[in-house]
Amino acid sequence: MDTETIRRRLSAAWGEGKRGWRAAVAFLRPRRREGALAALITAALVAAGFGADRYVEARTVTLYRVLVDGEDVGAASSPDAVDAWIQSRLRQASARADGARAVVANALQFRAERVYRGRADDAGVLAALDERLAVKVEAVRLVVDGKTIGVVKNRAAAEAIVGRVAAKVAREPLVYDGKAKTVKIARLSAPAPKPEAETVVDAALKNDVEIVPALVDPEAVDDEAVVEARLMGEDGEAKVVIRPGDTLSGIAARYNMKLDDLLALNPGLTPETILQIGQEILVRRAKPEIVVQTETTKTVRVPVPYTTRTIEDASLYKGERRVQQPGKDGVKEITYRLTRENGDVVEETVVDERVITPPVEAVIVVGTKPRPSAPAGQFLWPTRGGYITSGYGWRGGKFHPAVDISGVVDRTIVAAAAGTVTFAGWDGGYGHLVKIRHAGGYETWYAHLARIDVSAGQPVDQGQPIGVMGATGHATGVHLHFEIHLNGQAQDPTRYVGRR
Ligand SMILES: [Zn+2]
Repeated sequence: MDTETIRRRLSAAWGEGKRGWRAAVAFLRPRRREGALAALITAALVAAGFGADRYVEARTVTLYRVLVDGEDVGAASSPDAVDAWIQSRLRQASARADGARAVVANALQFRAERVYRGRADDAGVLAALDERLAVKVEAVRLVVDGKTIGVVKNRAAAEAIVGRVAAKVAREPLVYDGKAKTVKIARLSAPAPKPEAETVVDAALKNDVEIVPALVDPEAVDDEAVVEARLMGEDGEAKVVIRPGDTLSGIAARYNMKLDDLLALNPGLTPETILQIGQEILVRRAKPEIVVQTETTKTVRVPVPYTTRTIEDASLYKGERRVQQPGKDGVKEITYRLTRENGDVVEETVVDERVITPPVEAVIVVGTKPRPSAPAGQFLWPTRGGYITSGYGWRGGKFHPAVDISGVVDRTIVAAAAGTVTFAGWDGGYGHLVKIRHAGGYETWYAHLARIDVSAGQPVDQGQPIGVMGATGHATGVHLHFEIHLNGQAQDPTRYVGRR
């Protein structure tokens, strides 16, 4: 029997509930005269000469013949007795089907009759009904791209499920508005989002969602949580390979799982397990039956790096430099529009870019005047200002072949004399180290540098910046460890450079 036939039958007899079939009974009442046994009996008694009318009337009762799908199943004493029984059946069916509206799918009729010495058989009628009554519920079928996901009690329940799953897969506050392919953004009473937060501006389903009315057996209505899990595609398992930085709780969060569930899925794991890179573990990875496409906008502030302009100045020596104007980064605001499918970005475009604060150009003055060549063994103080914090000689049972200089104005390190770089790189406890060979068998060493600005083989002028003071290697603080060697022997630097 298809749905349409059932509907037609229902509207004819029972579907509208008690009021509906009362009307049907009333409509059938005039048929009492047709085929009524009473008329025949009356005629017979009159012929026998009795005061027939009164005698027959006193012994004639009204019975109600019950017809199920046109077939007589017996006589009831009153429609109420049958009705009460049917209503209780409908309540049971509705309860079993999560509250869906239950209806009788048979055509039911009552035909009132006046019967001489008639006797009702209510128990017989109910037994026959118990056997023949078809109780169905009016539910809906949730269909996605032609595939039935499940049957739930009504349209509102189906829409709520689609909305919850859409929100879950898109990780956004979404609701389903009941139209295929449209998902709306829920209005949240949350505080206004932060300037850099992503805002959903549009959301839509990529699937065809149909919510189709269906008249089904009460047992065919699914549990809503089951339908939701099916739509979410929550029964799939997948292997993931551990990558650097992965943690069990991080993986659980990434796949929307509870840590306990992740551990249950992987019997060898405990919360204390140290994950190995390349190790495979099982996760429950949802393969949702729906794809939610969201459009979001995001505005971020990023720095605009400043540019540097260099001005040559013939009054300064080569290698000398002076900051005429310090540079300052600007700020710009970039607005992106992101298209996401189930949370993953599939497209990102810049829709607006505006400079909030322009950058300030740095202006640096560099000297071009050639340095007078210094006689061999004449060295400059290798830092900008500063003082010796540890001298040349024995200290704490160890020989210190250098002076340590700190307390400088800026951290620029300069070549103490013109020469050629012989080493520029890392050397154990020296950290970043530069060695420069000079005329007359001299060599100067500059250790613990934060940065080296020259390379081996490069000629350098006296006073030319070669790097930046630091604390690399075995250094307890930022300082320059400065050595002067003559023919391979460390010298006391204070014999060549004065305190400043
Ligand atoms: Zn030192």
